[in-house]
Amino acid sequence: MPNPKIDKDACIGCGLCVGSHPEIFNFADDGKAEVIGEGDEAAVEDAVTSCPVGAIVAE
Ligand code: SF4
Repeated sequence: MPNPKIDKDACIGCGLCVGSHPEIFNFADDGKAEVIGEGDEAAVEDAVTSCPVGAIVAE
């Protein structure tokens, strides 16, 4: 299972990943995304490729 991480310095808090995959991402108190759960490979890959600033990294 891929394990996404958020580059907090890069994230601009646009909300795309939170809106598209709420089972994986949520907004943290700092207004940036945080990882709250695991998603399937396709969902994580979609989030990685959709983030406008490349702030989601899957390991
Ligand atoms: S899509 Fe990228 S920039 Fe937008 S909230 Fe998610 S991690 Fe941050």
